[in-house]
Order: sequence, then C-alpha cells, then structure tokens
Amino acid sequence: MKTSLTGIKPTGIPHLGNYFGAIRPALELAQECRSIYFIADYHALTAERNPETLNAHIYDVTATWLACGLDPQRTIVFRQSSVIEVFELTWIFACIVATGQLERGHSYKDALAKGEAPNAGLLNYPLLMAADIILYDTDFVPVGNDQSQHLELARDIAIRMNHLYGEKTVVVPQAKLAATPQVPGLDGRKMSKSYGNSIPLIVASKELHELVIKIKSDSTPLEQPKEPEGAHAFELFKAIASKAESQEVARKLRAGGYGWGHLKKELFERLDSDLAPIRERYHDLRDDRKRLDDILENGAERARVKARETISRVRRAVGIDAKKP
Ligand code: AMP
Repeated sequence: MKTSLTGIKPTGIPHLGNYFGAIRPALELAQECRSIYFIADYHALTAERNPETLNAHIYDVTATWLACGLDPQRTIVFRQSSVIEVFELTWIFACIVATGQLERGHSYKDALAKGEAPNAGLLNYPLLMAADIILYDTDFVPVGNDQSQHLELARDIAIRMNHLYGEKTVVVPQAKLAATPQVPGLDGRKMSKSYGNSIPLIVASKELHELVIKIKSDSTPLEQPKEPEGAHAFELFKAIASKAESQEVARKLRAGGYGWGHLKKELFERLDSDLAPIRERYHDLRDDRKRLDDILENGAERARVKARETISRVRRAVGIDAKKP
C-alpha cells in the first residue's frame, strides 16, 4: 500500500478554499492509502510570533480536520514537533543542497520582492518540508500549484541522497497535483486569508449568511438570463453541490427569472446544512483539549516508529551510526 502525506499549517480556522481544495481531497485519499497527516507547527513558526496564537491554532486545525471526518485510527495524525528526528534529517539534507537552490525558493523570493527581511527559517523551510516527506518513506504528496516547487526540491534531494549514498537510502516522493479547481473568495479572487475575502469553515449560521450575501455578483436584472460559468456564487455552489444539482441551477440561471439572490439563498442553505454537523463536532472537540492531546500523542508514537527506522537507515548510509564504533 502506498503512503500519502500532508502537512497542515496551523494558521487558524481553515476557510472553504482549504476545505474543498485540501481537506476533502485529503480525506478521500486517506480511504485509498496509508495516510500520514501532521500539524506543521514548526513551519508556522517562520511567521507566527505570538505563542498563545500559535498554540490555539494548533488545536483549531486539529479539531477542524477531525470534525471534517479525519479518522485518527486509520490516519496517523500528529504534531510535526513531536518527532524530533525530522530536524536531524533536515541537517543532513542541508549538507547536500546548494544555497542557491534555497535562494530560488518562491516563498523566500516573494518575501524579498516585498521588501521584507526574511528570516533563515523561511529560506530553509523547503529543507524541513523535504525532511517531513522523506522521513516517512512517503510515496506521494497531494499539492496545490503553490507547493509544487518545494516538492520538486524534495524529489531532487531524495534523488541526490540515493545517488550519493546508495539506491535505496530514501524513497523518492511524487507530487499528486490537486484536481480541484480554485475556490473563489467573496471578491472573486482566489479565496485566501491574506486577501480578507474568505468564508471560514467554522462559522455561525447568521455570519455565514451575511458572508454569502456579500459574494460579488453583477447587476443583471432578475428576469434576464445569466451566464453561470465564472460567476463567483456559482463556482462556490459547484464546489459543494453534485453535478446534477449544479446543472439544474445553471439551467435556471440561463432561463432567466432566477436571480443571483436566489442562487445565494440556495448556496447558503446548502452550505449551512452541510457544515452544521462539522461545526457541532468541531466545538465538541475544540473544548476537549485532553482528547485532542491524546489523539496527537498516539499519532506521534506511531510516527516515531517509522521515523526512527528511516533515520537509522540514513545515519548508516551517510557514515554516522551511533551503534558502530
Ligand atoms: P494555505 O493555508 O493558503 O496555504 O492553503 C493550504 C492549501 O489549501 C493549499 O495548498 C491548497 O491546496 C488549498 N487552498 C487554499 N486556498 C484555496 C482556494 N481558494 N481554492 C482551492 N484550494 C485552496
């Protein structure tokens, strides 16, 4: 059985773009393969300076993923920071990667282009990401386009390790590019926390309604036919509804006499009924720190077994083996 791995950055409550673009596909994948999903708490430290916020976000995202249906029996769920072998592997990788390769990393370059003074964590984070992946003998990593460059680096590193130290030193991971389309935000740009245009996954009905009403739409009069494709409310509706339901809504829009307000009402009702059980499970879980800690620790124990196997294999390969004189 193949292993798939996903890192989840604890940046607060996920939004609908994260849900349709990352959470739902990852949960489907967990049905087909051995799955390892970790909360990337040390990755978050490149940007988060407030300890209370970081700590709260770790539990927010854990509770959200579990509420969405992540099964901790089937999937190994843990905090990245609980498996310290990942830092040993990061160092080994740092010693075989040219600094220029890291300087070409897009997150680092974007920060420089914005005139920021990026910290060394941002420069080195693709190394940590490669170690996260390779430590668990991962076969594939579902990625959005935003992460494909970093995954290429992880592949390069794995290939280079095997070239330098022997064919089977590490498993070379593959990207599994997300098939899901980009989810638009309220203003039609990609839904993103940084654009302030997102609809959170966990939000009270009233607030959800207010947000759905705000989705940008044109002012075509109610009775006139409307083109659904490309309309933001329709793109969101397509993400949550079945093909047949979307086709029916598209037909009504094209026929005229059905306005954006009607579509938003249907969209809200559909979102609200689908998200209500997730919301309820989220609040139960989020209030139960002990249960979340137990799940994360149980996952960490299982992850450590695999990590220790890989790290001793790599240690032996590079000539550092604690057990040999
Ligand atoms: P972020 O927290 O923005 O780094 O997003 C984490 C992951 O969620 C991304 O790698 C994508 O797979 C997915 N994602 C984020 N925003 C969207 C969006 N607007 N549409 C589809 N997928 C998204």
